[in-house]
Amino acid sequence: LFASLSSLTNLARLRSPILCVLGHVDTGKTKLLDKVRKTNVQEGEAGGITQQIGATFFPMTNLRKLTDQVSHSVKVDYKIPGLLVIDTPGHESFSNLRSRGTSICDICVLVVDIMHGLEPQTIESLQLLKRRRCPFLVALNKIDRCYDWQPNKDSPIQDTLAKQKSHTVREFESRWQGIKGEIASQGLNADLYYENKNPRKVVSVVPTSAITGEGVPDLLLLGIQLTQKMLVDRLMLSEALEATVLEVKVTEGFGTTLDIILVHGELHEGDTIVVCGMQGPIVTTIRTLLTPHPMKELRVKNEYVHHKSIEASMAVALPPVTSSLQAAMGVKIAASGLEGAVAGTSLLRLEKEDDIEELKSSVMEDLEELKKDVDKSGKGVHVQASTLGALEALLDFLHNSSIPVASINIGPVHKKDVIRASAMLERAPDLAMILAFDVKIVPEAEALAKKAGIKIFTANIIYHLFDQFKSFMEEKKAAKREQLYSNGVAVFPVILSIIPKNVFNKRNPIILGCEVKEGSLKVGTPLCIPELNFLEIGKVTSIQNNHKEVKVAKVGMSVAVKIEPSNDQQSHILYGRQFDHKVKLYSKITRDGIQAMKDHFAEEMTSEDWKLMSKLKQLFIRGVQHW
Ligand code: GDP
Repeated sequence: LFASLSSLTNLARLRSPILCVLGHVDTGKTKLLDKVRKTNVQEGEAGGITQQIGATFFPMTNLRKLTDQVSHSVKVDYKIPGLLVIDTPGHESFSNLRSRGTSICDICVLVVDIMHGLEPQTIESLQLLKRRRCPFLVALNKIDRCYDWQPNKDSPIQDTLAKQKSHTVREFESRWQGIKGEIASQGLNADLYYENKNPRKVVSVVPTSAITGEGVPDLLLLGIQLTQKMLVDRLMLSEALEATVLEVKVTEGFGTTLDIILVHGELHEGDTIVVCGMQGPIVTTIRTLLTPHPMKELRVKNEYVHHKSIEASMAVALPPVTSSLQAAMGVKIAASGLEGAVAGTSLLRLEKEDDIEELKSSVMEDLEELKKDVDKSGKGVHVQASTLGALEALLDFLHNSSIPVASINIGPVHKKDVIRASAMLERAPDLAMILAFDVKIVPEAEALAKKAGIKIFTANIIYHLFDQFKSFMEEKKAAKREQLYSNGVAVFPVILSIIPKNVFNKRNPIILGCEVKEGSLKVGTPLCIPELNFLEIGKVTSIQNNHKEVKVAKVGMSVAVKIEPSNDQQSHILYGRQFDHKVKLYSKITRDGIQAMKDHFAEEMTSEDWKLMSKLKQLFIRGVQHW
């Protein structure tokens, strides 16, 4: 009896799971969160949802009304007091939700656009979720875009699918199967949730529409079910403080404040707290604890309600008072000295028995960890972001695409950051740039960057920043290739034999029928004759195959090659006098040329080309003759 009593009390002391939404840009993350909020507001008369700092709390009384529609097919025992949904979707928010190296996000919804399938950021998110071992559901969103979809507002998905015409169901089914395959190629099994026999191992997929609300009740129910099944230990309320800094921002009347998620425990006015700062650990005293005013919509004078103390379990007890259920919650902390605090790190409280130095080094751990990730070679771009989570997400992106990073910082871009980036002008000029995510650039920094020639990329969506950077690098690369090619440094290896019966012009320009013996011949190639003391005869300016102009001639092709002189001396070279069909023509190979080919044309060179290149290197650079 005692055992079952104690397990009962334990059950009653579960906190609300923290839920975060992830996915590629434009899949409908924001819209879906809006929809969840709206359907709950409509449903809820008394005891509506509570807007918190950085998050929205959905009490179980509300969720139940919605999910009961679905649960006729799935029986659920509601044990958690509600759901705490993080307001800002995305990779960065998810990364910010952590405490002492582990994620405090209990469950994620990964949104996939049924029309687009898995997109680059979806894949990044999948990897992130796997790495952090965070349970998640997939919302297969925008189902209403299947042809001829008949909307059924806020309906459970199986009900609305049953009402669709057969061709619409077929389209839905074929798109879903395609996406299922894409998920499988990421090493994960997925099933529509109502067909999923093993939700612990197989990812449950919920078709949704953020516009019509179809599937939204299912999504909420699944979220509740999954956390209750998998996370009971994690959700057991404990008294030990667990809190994480979600955002650092200036709040009118309070100076720099911290928006935190209080997962477990209590905070009080006057508590000494320790948080990570860019310039080292920050130790300060809580001046006041704030939550949003419940009647914010009425434009009340004081936007915030002050609290002498707050415990995670108060979330739903705050006005409007509903019950004393337990929950994690979002709170704003005002204190002095918070400038430079880093979001995405844990907040610790100094207790009597604590060693302050230990706490100080503990709050800095996450940041130190990230600093370790910067490139050891000392060559790379400078990266700056608003929060640790954003910085981490950005570093992930850059790492996956092999873009080296030399230095990092958090907060607005100042002159000193530009100076740091300009150190690269000497070491690796191509990387002398700043990638700034969701941060301001102070005007002096902008002016200095312009003067020094440091390009600053800015964006509020990581993926856009990444795109900008990539296309800039592509353009730069293309320009560099063009330059190396047109000034004759970059040369593809080739050996040509002359077809004596096809000599069209003997001098200036020389036009000869040639057969490509090895390698490939490209317009722009400087030609010479190693057998005749490396006599240079000019540069290929045109190649014709059956009277048609071509840019390249491959092995075995016979083509007409026009060779124009590059200087006065070459203009006197006459076919039949200085050389004839008995010799072979070679592309002129230099040390710089080989390097340029390695650095800039590797993708266009085949392994055969490289073999020829190494043979020609022996000949041109080491003087080893092979004829
Ligand atoms: P986010 O970038 O993932 O937050 O995407 P948004 O929520 O901003 O949505 C991107 C666009 O898709 C907006 O124009 C939305 O109106 C639209 N959208 C989102 N969800 C749905 C949906 O379920 N159905 C349809 N038809 N459009 C949607």
